Amino acid sequence: MSSEPLLVIDKLNKSYSSGFGGRHKTQILHEVSLSVNCGQTLGLVGESGSGKSTTASCVMGLTGVDSGSIRFDGQEITGLSKSDRRTLRGRMQMVFQDPNGSLDPRFTVRDLVEEPLIVHGYKDRTERQLKVAKTLDLVGLTEKQAERYPHAFSGGQRQRIAIARALVLNPQLVVLDEPVSALDVSIQAQVLNLLAQLQDELSLTYLFIVHDLAVARLMSHQIAVMHHGKVVEYGTAQEVFEETTHPYTQALLDAVPGTKQGAGHA
Ligand code: ADP
Ligand code: MG
Repeated sequence: MSSEPLLVIDKLNKSYSSGFGGRHKTQILHEVSLSVNCGQTLGLVGESGSGKSTTASCVMGLTGVDSGSIRFDGQEITGLSKSDRRTLRGRMQMVFQDPNGSLDPRFTVRDLVEEPLIVHGYKDRTERQLKVAKTLDLVGLTEKQAERYPHAFSGGQRQRIAIARALVLNPQLVVLDEPVSALDVSIQAQVLNLLAQLQDELSLTYLFIVHDLAVARLMSHQIAVMHHGKVVEYGTAQEVFEETTHPYTQALLDAVPGTKQGAGHA
């Protein structure tokens, strides 16, 4: 296995067009560069509107880029054809803040977790059933729960279902866009523990978008701080939290009691 990071974003620029005929362009990302090491977590933090989700969309190919490079496992993935993108999609998956958007209420949990396998051309039903059972077990859902519909579950359990859908294809990279922000604090810890445990067991690489600095610190090996579409601070979690140089990062840290002293997450 190469020692190159699994994901390398280099000088990424991205704008959105608006107005009649898309005449007005607003640049959202400015020369964004960061990388995520194999089997590790990069925490991407920053206030709302700073460009975190846009960065994730570019990585997942949900939107195009203006310029710059995104390499996944050594391969340039900007400008891929639809079919190449589909092949790749099994290797990188995303979990969103609100699981309800991706969980069709007409399907049972088992069907929801099986669906990505069908979409990706797994024709053998027995193989699919085995993978679904294994994945449900991984995220802590029982066989009995698998026969129920999403509405029967709490927010935290629905996020487990969304995580199972992301993991059933056995991805290397998982992009997590504020996966616990919508959950009760007591439930947040359970889902974070699950994500950490899954990373260990499956050697997963996470791009973890999070606005809560305490959570970022708890979960991340590296941290990138975004501000107005730029990466203003980037380093190991320890460097960013204890030796921060950028005034914006300092202001973020000052706003959160207990994150500055280096005593760990209370
Ligand atoms: P974050 O995830 O950090 O809150 P986003 O990446 O969602 O930030 O948004 C960054 C900026 O890009 C915001 O100003 C937002 O309004 C704008 N933006 C996001 N998506 C679109 C879009 N599809 N079209 C136009 N502007 C967008
Ligand atoms: Mg966002």
